[in-house]
Amino acid sequence: MRFIEYGTIKKKAFNRFALVYPDVYRAGNSNLGLHYVYNIVNDKEGFSIERFFLDFERSIETQDMLKNFKALLFSLNYEYGVINLLKILKKNNIPLLRENRKEHLVITGGPLNVNPFTLDDVFDIAFIGDAEKSLVEFLDIYSTLDDPKNQIDEFAKIEGLYIPKIHKENKIRRRVEKLDYHPLYEPIQWGDFEESFNKTFLLEVSRGCRNRCSFCLTGNALGPYRERKKEELINIVKEGQKRTKFEKIALIGSDMPSSLNEIIKSLSELGFQISLPSLKLGDINEYTIPLIGQETITLAPESSESLRAQIGKFYKDEEFFEKINLIKKYSKYVKLYFIFGLPGEEQKDLDEIINFIKQSRKIIRTKSSFNPFVPKPHTPFEDYIFDFAELKEKMKYITTNIKDVRIEDLKGAFIQYVISLGGSDVGRFIIDGVENDTNLTYSSFNKAIEKEDIVFPSKEKEWKRIGI
Ligand code: SF4
Repeated sequence: MRFIEYGTIKKKAFNRFALVYPDVYRAGNSNLGLHYVYNIVNDKEGFSIERFFLDFERSIETQDMLKNFKALLFSLNYEYGVINLLKILKKNNIPLLRENRKEHLVITGGPLNVNPFTLDDVFDIAFIGDAEKSLVEFLDIYSTLDDPKNQIDEFAKIEGLYIPKIHKENKIRRRVEKLDYHPLYEPIQWGDFEESFNKTFLLEVSRGCRNRCSFCLTGNALGPYRERKKEELINIVKEGQKRTKFEKIALIGSDMPSSLNEIIKSLSELGFQISLPSLKLGDINEYTIPLIGQETITLAPESSESLRAQIGKFYKDEEFFEKINLIKKYSKYVKLYFIFGLPGEEQKDLDEIINFIKQSRKIIRTKSSFNPFVPKPHTPFEDYIFDFAELKEKMKYITTNIKDVRIEDLKGAFIQYVISLGGSDVGRFIIDGVENDTNLTYSSFNKAIEKEDIVFPSKEKEWKRIGI
């Protein structure tokens, strides 16, 4: 496999930080949050930061080992990242528990920090919310300290930082920023290493969502909707071109601005191919689809028409099929995402979903995937119980009635559920498992719940301490 990367920053500095994405390079390097931290730390005089992934145990920049860095910044985007973070520390002989760690500062950030409390005994500092400014404030203070690990109180005044040693009971406000910074040095893969974002510059067009679907973390907990103007986006791309090399631009955002057509037109005129990894139905039109020329267009009907409306998405099936017919003219495939097990779901909803797929298959080659509903903190559905037996029945019903659909593993989803809404007891259970090299499986989590080693769902709802 050839690894060819442009935009890599190789900087020598006194304060060397590690940026760890607890998943493989392919997943991590296509995460824009990672590029933000990479740029912000490297932009600061006296600081450098180097990347680590599950499949890159030595840093990409200098091939150094993780234990040789003073501060380890972990980007947490998915629940399994919690387990992988602990495994990475263990593998590098770095004590998992904060109280046992003498040298390294372990710092976390990312969307999973809407509930940082599973790792409450592990990290020294958690960045809560948007970190563009809080990270700069952190670096400013860090550069003035002789021994930051033992002078951690100095960081307590930064808004949006949760420091368990100091903030024992306080409520922590999630930080929200305007979109006035964008990373320009994006390390971009040109080899045959990465699948989806090869040769692609990630351009954050918007953040947050104007909708508030009842199950969704983005709409309910990741801040208000913000967007960038077309002129600003063009400027970012032009500046990015001076620092890294790319031939495609992926527009990142869960909810695209109404001026999307103009944005696509202007960026295409600069000579780039445009891709839109997530598209709302309203964004699909005679103009956007031919311009982006994607082989596959992904749509998220989520559920049946009536249940879709109940969770806060008001598109009718008819509107979906109108767009699928349009997509057929310009693309080869449509990919459909569904969630099963949503509150209020009945068999008739599953039948409607199955008919939806069958109907779509008559129009265009259709790939479909089903994910079990996993409740998330800070959403209206956070109290809903993940009923494994019921979901298993539903899964059986789906696979009996329609072939060739992808269904996410239920056992894995259950572990996500426990981590997503867990407290520090869940964290301690995982820490013990990693320390003792025991397999953290569905049945081990279940046994721990039965034996009441874990109180789940958490009665404390520790995540309520995070102010959204
Ligand atoms: S599911 Fe999509 S439309 Fe709904 S709130 Fe989340 S990002 Fe917005």
